[in-house]
Amino acid sequence: MEAVMEHWLSKRAALSPDTLAVETAEGDSWTFIQLYDESVLFAKKLANYTDPKQHVGILSNNSLDMIIAFFACTYLEIPVVLLNTRLTNVEIKKQCESADVTLILTTNTLKEKAVSTAVSVNTFTEIHQSDPESVRITHTIKMDQLCTMMFTSGTTGTAKAVMHQFSNHWSSAIASALNLSLLPTDKWLACLPLFHIGGLSIILKGVIYGMPVYLLEKFDEQLVHKAIINNGVSIVSVVSVTCSRLLEKSGDEKYPESFRCMLLGGGPAPRSLLEKAKHKGVPIVQTYGMTETSSQIATLNANDAIRKNGSAGQALFSASLEIRKEGKQLPPMEIGEITVRGPMVTSGYYKREDANKAAFTDGWLSTGDLGYKDEEGFLYVVDRRSDLIISGGENIYPAEIEDCLLTMSAIAEAGVAGRPDSYWGQIPVAFVVKADSALTDNMVKEHCEKLLAPYKVPKQIYFVESLPRNATKKIQRHKLMDWIN
Ligand code: ATP
Ligand code: MG
Repeated sequence: MEAVMEHWLSKRAALSPDTLAVETAEGDSWTFIQLYDESVLFAKKLANYTDPKQHVGILSNNSLDMIIAFFACTYLEIPVVLLNTRLTNVEIKKQCESADVTLILTTNTLKEKAVSTAVSVNTFTEIHQSDPESVRITHTIKMDQLCTMMFTSGTTGTAKAVMHQFSNHWSSAIASALNLSLLPTDKWLACLPLFHIGGLSIILKGVIYGMPVYLLEKFDEQLVHKAIINNGVSIVSVVSVTCSRLLEKSGDEKYPESFRCMLLGGGPAPRSLLEKAKHKGVPIVQTYGMTETSSQIATLNANDAIRKNGSAGQALFSASLEIRKEGKQLPPMEIGEITVRGPMVTSGYYKREDANKAAFTDGWLSTGDLGYKDEEGFLYVVDRRSDLIISGGENIYPAEIEDCLLTMSAIAEAGVAGRPDSYWGQIPVAFVVKADSALTDNMVKEHCEKLLAPYKVPKQIYFVESLPRNATKKIQRHKLMDWIN
C-alpha cells in the first residue's frame, strides 16, 4: 500500500503554529501558521491557472513568495520544476522543454526572461492579485509522488533533471537530523539558491523539524556574518568559495557558542580552507552529496573532524556507500567510483533513459565521483571521474593540484585541467586568479615543484581575471578545457 502522510506544512502548522518559520535580513518574519495560510491561499488562486497533471516551473531567486509558491503546488499535487535564474533564456527554454514545463511562476523582475521561453508565465504578484477558487486542497502527501524536479548544476556538461519524490526529501531530512541532531534553539541560514537541492532541502527541513529558517536572497558575507553574530543562526550551509569569504570576513571575531555547524558541501573543500577554519575554531562539518541524493548522503561528525580532517565522513543512517571499479567493491584506500544507495537517492533522471541506464545498477547510483574509504570506512572524495587527467599513464586529480596552488597566499582562485599533448596524452595546466599582482608563473611552478611529483606540476600557468563557475560557484573545468583546446 502506498505510504501517505499528513501534509508536512499542515501538520507543522497544527503542531507549532506560532513558531517562527522564516525570517529575513530585512526583518520580516512568518510563523508556521502564517506560512501555511499563505500557501493554501496561494494554492487556491493558483488553481485558476493550472491543471493537476502539469509541471509548473518556478523561476525565482530566494524569497518568501518562492517558498509559498512551492508549497502551494504541493497542495495542488503539482510537481515543481526549479529553474536556475542564472541561466540564459535559451538554456531555461531547453530545461522547460526537457522537463515538460507548461507554466512558469516568476517574479516581476524575471518575467521578461521567463516569457522568452514561450511557456505561459504568471508572476507571483499576478497570482496574489487573483481570486481564490473553491478547489479541494490535499492535506496529505503521497510519499511516492513526484515532488520536485531539479537540474544538476551542469558542472560536467549538460544539466539533467533529477526527479525527487516526497519520500526522497523526507528521508534526506530525517537522515540529516539523525546525523547533526536537532536542538530546540536551532536556526538554519539559507543562502544557497533554493533552485538547487542545498537550498530547498533547508526549507523542507525547517518545516519537518519545526525549525526557523533565516532566508537570504543570495549569499552576502556581510549579511551571513551579521546573522550568525546577532540573529541566533546555529547552522549555515556553504560551499567552499562562500565559506572562504566568510572566514575572511569574520577576521578575529569569534562566532557565538550557539553557532554549531558550518555545513560545507557541494564541491571539493581545499585543505588550506579546512586548516584555516580549524585554526579559527569555526565548526566546519564536511559533507558529500549531490542533487541525485537530495543533498547530504555522507557527513563527517564533529567528533571526528580533527581525526579525519579532509574526509566527507560516513554514509548517513539509511544510506550505503561503496567504492567500486568495474562493478566490484574495492578494498580500503583504493580509489574507485563512489556508488550510493538509500531512500534519499533519486529514482532517476526525467525522460533520460540513456543516463539512467548508465547511472543505475541494481538500485545503486554511480555518482561519477572518484574517492576512497579509509580502513574505518570514512569517505575521501578525490575528484570527478570526467576531470581525471591521465598523463603518461599516471592518474592526476586536478583537485589535488588546485589544493596545492591555493596554499600560496598570492593565489586567490585556481582551476586545473588537462591539455592534450602528443607525447604524454594529457598534461596538467593551471588557471590562476592572482591575489597579488607581483605573482609570476615561475613562482607558481616553483611552489608546486616543492609539493608535488614532477608529472603533477602544471606545465603552463594562465593568469585570468576569473574562473568559469556555475550558480553554486563550482569551477566548470570542461569550460577551462574549451579555453585551451
Ligand atoms: P553535473 O552533474 O550537471 O555535472 P554537479 O554534479 O556539479 O553537476 P550537483 O548535484 O549540484 O551537480 O553537485 C554534486 C557534485 O558536487 C558531486 O557529484 C561531487 O562531484 C561534488 N561534491 C559534493 N560534495 C563534495 C565533497 N564533499 N567533496 C568533493 N566534491 C563534492
Ligand atoms: Mg553531478
